[in-house]
Amino acid sequence: MSRDGIMRVETMDENRKNELTNWGWNGALEEQYEKRDPSLHPARVIRESGRLCLLVTEEGELQAQVSGAFGYRAFSRSDFPVVGDWVLYRGASEGQGVIEVIMERKSCFSRKEAGDRTEEQPLAANIDVIFLVFAVNGGRNFTTGGLERYLTLAWESGARPVIVLNKADLCPEEERDAFLLSAENSAPGVDIHMISAATGEGLGELKSGFKAGTTVSLVGPSGVGKSTLINALSGAELQKTSAQREQDKRGRHTTTHRQMFRLPSGLLMIDTPGLRELQLWADEDALDEAFRDISALAAGCRFRDCRHEGEPGCAVQEALLSGELEQRRYESYLDLRRELSYLKTRQDSQAARLEREKWKDISKLQKAFKHRKR
Ligand code: GDP
Ligand code: ZN
Repeated sequence: MSRDGIMRVETMDENRKNELTNWGWNGALEEQYEKRDPSLHPARVIRESGRLCLLVTEEGELQAQVSGAFGYRAFSRSDFPVVGDWVLYRGASEGQGVIEVIMERKSCFSRKEAGDRTEEQPLAANIDVIFLVFAVNGGRNFTTGGLERYLTLAWESGARPVIVLNKADLCPEEERDAFLLSAENSAPGVDIHMISAATGEGLGELKSGFKAGTTVSLVGPSGVGKSTLINALSGAELQKTSAQREQDKRGRHTTTHRQMFRLPSGLLMIDTPGLRELQLWADEDALDEAFRDISALAAGCRFRDCRHEGEPGCAVQEALLSGELEQRRYESYLDLRRELSYLKTRQDSQAARLEREKWKDISKLQKAFKHRKR
């Protein structure tokens, strides 16, 4: 190849890296990719509707579909691509790519599927940071119980939680410290920002805490200012505020997308329907993360499998008596643990059923196959 040719190849490689890096591509992904079939190209899913995805590739946006093999291989919804996934696709024909592989997920945000089924429904993948948004204008907007619940979910996802206390402009100066303190107590070791999406107070500091290419998402009760915050971060009207959404409800029907977008600061935002109001889908490890103070105490319990509900030599009970551990926080912990174990029981019976169905399908396929051979 001519010198010139080599130069051009290098430039293309650089361009590829730049474009993908803008969307969060990093060394760990590069390493995973190097072990793969070189005829497959990396891309990130920025919109998803069933089997059809919109990708950002090294050369810009591309529509793509999952390959036929997904139909046989995939047994659950988490085996299909979601917004935020890194995938490997095969060369586009007629402007469409074919997704062959989903790369290992660094994090995955799921909810329990609506209704009776207990299946995990993944909503978004590879979120680095999750803003837990609450409002500090008094009323029922901020409760430590609510915070602990969201925190447990956030830890389960694998993303790093950051607490955002919004509407600081409505919070009297002398009450601010009390909010900060109670957030700190409920979330040991987690960054806390007090901001006002309306006036812009604290926004600069919030933004500058993350490097470009970081994927963020936000959760929190409705009305706390999530849409306003996204708009403020983007410097444009990207998301409708609740007042505007109300108006839409009365007016024409508007469709909602699962979508990821890039903010001017280089932050990547995933704001998909359903992600903001999560149902609990977590396990006890996440609970231990959210209640690190209690897990630390538990190391001092006499029994390794202590449930901290009256066993002798329980360090958690001791901390309750001495006042080191707040009664309210202890009860919040028990409530969440109860909820999780209920979910687990349902999950297990569901998993058993799915496993039976899977084997039924396989033996059906085998029969059909034998039939064909004859
Ligand atoms: P969402 O449901 O969490 O998306 O909340 P919205 O972004 O729709 O905000 C709910 C209401 O709170 C709207 O009327 C916003 O204008 C208002 N709001 C949001 N952020 C702030 C803030 O920092 N200060 C004040 N005063 N109002 C805010
Ligand atoms: Zn104990």
